[in-house]
Amino acid sequence: MRKQLTFLFAFAIFSSYLFTSCQKTPVIDEAEVTRIISTLASDEMEGRRTFTPGIEKAAEFIAGEFEKIGLEYMDGLSSYQQKFSMYSLRQESAEVSINGKAVASENLLVSVSGETFELKDVAEADIITVPAGTNFQAAFNEARRATGKRLVLVDPSHKNLFVRYKGFFNRAARAARVMELDNDNGMVMVVTEATSVKSVDIKVTNSVEENSLANVGAKISGKRANEVVVFSGHYDHLGIRGAEGDSIFNGANDDASGITAVLTLARYFKDSGKKPERTILFVAFTAEEMGGFGSQYFSKQLNPDEIVAMFNIEMIGKPAVSGPNTAWITGFDKSDFGSLLQKAVEGTEYEFYADPYPAQNLFYRSDNATLARLGVPAHTISTTPIDVDPDYHKASDEVSTLDMAHMTNTIKAISAAAVRIISGVDTPTRVDPTGLN
Ligand SMILES: [Zn+2]
Repeated sequence: MRKQLTFLFAFAIFSSYLFTSCQKTPVIDEAEVTRIISTLASDEMEGRRTFTPGIEKAAEFIAGEFEKIGLEYMDGLSSYQQKFSMYSLRQESAEVSINGKAVASENLLVSVSGETFELKDVAEADIITVPAGTNFQAAFNEARRATGKRLVLVDPSHKNLFVRYKGFFNRAARAARVMELDNDNGMVMVVTEATSVKSVDIKVTNSVEENSLANVGAKISGKRANEVVVFSGHYDHLGIRGAEGDSIFNGANDDASGITAVLTLARYFKDSGKKPERTILFVAFTAEEMGGFGSQYFSKQLNPDEIVAMFNIEMIGKPAVSGPNTAWITGFDKSDFGSLLQKAVEGTEYEFYADPYPAQNLFYRSDNATLARLGVPAHTISTTPIDVDPDYHKASDEVSTLDMAHMTNTIKAISAAAVRIISGVDTPTRVDPTGLN
């Protein structure tokens, strides 16, 4: 009882501090939290997999909620949906010869991002050699991350590893998707005795299919248009898998819980009635589970230097290992965002901690990382016991496994913790992208 009172009291102080001229009393309540998450994680949404009708239903639901709350569209848009395209590539042919000798397909791994890829002039290529005794994995990753026309010569001593990579890669490449078609970008990797290239003749062709997808976002304009605070989560999940038993992956915790927080916070800050000092964006990202494409597209539609903080919210439906009324923040040492949040809720019953699973690299495993790589203090807030959670990425990730009271308290704590940043009192330090993976 006493703890609850302490919390409500502190909460009242925060609320009156920011919202002196309230029109409605903003509330974050459990019934509303339950309504939203139950809708998003219902079987009707079919697991919200990107490029399926289920995720489109979810997008319409989220847009409908933004509309009811009375939020603005994000800049440059005429609806709440931020639509874009991705291109799915399927290899139709690949002919490669080096120094006049054709390369057998078993010695060939091709990854190109356009409809065609041609290389006939050695001077146009970056030639990368992977000699015997070097770290194949490191060389592979480096070559993949590079851009332009890359020809990688792999010493035959790496053949076993090469074959394994080719196997993984071909499975993934069946659904290879790129955000931009580029006939001048591609990697051709060849197992060969050759260590230098005098002549080359490469022609790869792909079939291309265009698919559309969308983030769903909304805005509350602040007095400062070019200082933006972002609340985000991802609304996509894994869809329907397998045919037996419960085949719908509802993704209640991952990440219907984060989207529920985003919508509830949007209602909360809008109902405060007062124009905030800083502009606030509420964003539901698509295609997080496929590789973070939604946040990548979003990050290119605005100036990341204007984002002063990003509260990315992932899996807050189950109490954290650190106990009830606690949440943790990824990348605690990458900016002072986490310690500002800690200070902001001091004296309440809620506490924020550093991510207790550093070995899991969670800072890099959600949409915050895309913005952090651009210098934004972008962190993920979570409470999930990810190391022991039997429902993580399973069909059993259902609302019935979640604790609604905990979730509601966590959203309240985030709202309280964000007040000083939204009002311009606190500004987190920037992330140094050079120190990131
Ligand atoms: Zn997630």
